[in-house]
Amino acid sequence: MALLNEYFLELPSDDLFSDVAKKINTFKVLRPHTELIDLGINDVTSPLPSSVIEAMHKAVDDMADSTRFHGYGPEQGYEFLRDAIIKNDFNTRGIHLMPNEVFINDGVKSEIGNIGDLLRSDNTIGVIDPIYPVYIESNAISGRAGIFNKGRWSNVCYLNCNESNAFTPMPPEFPIDIVYLCSPDNPTGAAYSKGQLKKWVDYAIKNKALILFDASYEAYIQSPDIPHSIYEIRGAKKVAIELRSFSRTAGFTGLRCGYTIIPKELTIQTLDGRKIQMNTLWSRRQSIRFNGVSYVTQCAAAATYSELGKNQLRQTIEFYMENVRMMRRILSPLNLKIYGGEHIPYLWIKIPTKSSSWEFFESMLYSAKVVCTPGIVFGPGGEGYVRLSAFAKREDCKNAVKRLKDWLE
Ligand code: PLP
Repeated sequence: MALLNEYFLELPSDDLFSDVAKKINTFKVLRPHTELIDLGINDVTSPLPSSVIEAMHKAVDDMADSTRFHGYGPEQGYEFLRDAIIKNDFNTRGIHLMPNEVFINDGVKSEIGNIGDLLRSDNTIGVIDPIYPVYIESNAISGRAGIFNKGRWSNVCYLNCNESNAFTPMPPEFPIDIVYLCSPDNPTGAAYSKGQLKKWVDYAIKNKALILFDASYEAYIQSPDIPHSIYEIRGAKKVAIELRSFSRTAGFTGLRCGYTIIPKELTIQTLDGRKIQMNTLWSRRQSIRFNGVSYVTQCAAAATYSELGKNQLRQTIEFYMENVRMMRRILSPLNLKIYGGEHIPYLWIKIPTKSSSWEFFESMLYSAKVVCTPGIVFGPGGEGYVRLSAFAKREDCKNAVKRLKDWLE
């Protein structure tokens, strides 16, 4: 008899992001002639840069030529891409890695869940809250999150991000086995300083914990004091896996490419106390369950490290960051409590009334005709806030915040 993985049944029946989409659809049915501006966007909107497009055209031509055709590639990724990553993203920050410590993947979302293959289901989980919901839900389907009740998972330790800790919670007094950190953070925009990250690394060393560090938005960091990689912190290679994505840095949300760093120094224990190198296990896991990212996509990713590619990426990032700065400027006379927007193109706004984030979302939708994301979809700590995304056209950003200003005034 085939039996179901019943942990799936613990998932709440509705994904909150799809509830947002349903409410927008209802609006469109009720008000078919009203123009909505969507700043709830969870995607990028600028097209791929020409350097990337050219590299893909060339790679497609390679595939049409019997001498340059590429079939199955190495499961861990082509060396040309791994070398470019190490040289540009790490050596420039004084971090040394070997190519076999870099694993190319099809994006952070799938990788977050995949890494669970190496982890027992009875590990305790800690997440900063609010957070990208995939961290918890991918654990839920393998039983690590426990039971979902009244918006919280029973086995998850929610590390509350709030104004009093500047949205950067510090390690708790008690041990957690696996900790998810995201810096700069979606949705709050908070970014950990070196000193703060060091506390997390020391905590992980002391408690033999594993840190999963999501640096998907590192390219948006605007201050030299904010670390781009957790490996800027001494000792981090012993306790942390870093996840990075070309989605937000280079507009690859539809192409799909990211990478994971698993240093050779990182070990994890068995119940009987043996220390096992995670890198070797992950390499084995990838050989069994993954056949690599396509050659064309990896050529596209490598093109982001050419001089032209780097310039083009900088321009796109600057475009989104200018959007968010402009949004903040227009909203500033309102005396709202606005966070984020410094190292990430999202604004995290405290709701100025007693409304819940769903209620405020609906009032904004029907009164200002602007879509935001209700904070609660990012976890219980998101209640009382909404997120506005600046991953949009300049005109849309400007008109949306003008509408909000008129509405709130
Ligand atoms: N990590 C964070 C914090 C995100 O916000 C997102 C997407 O919204 C992802 C990862 C997903 O990245 P990818 O497109 O590489 O799967």
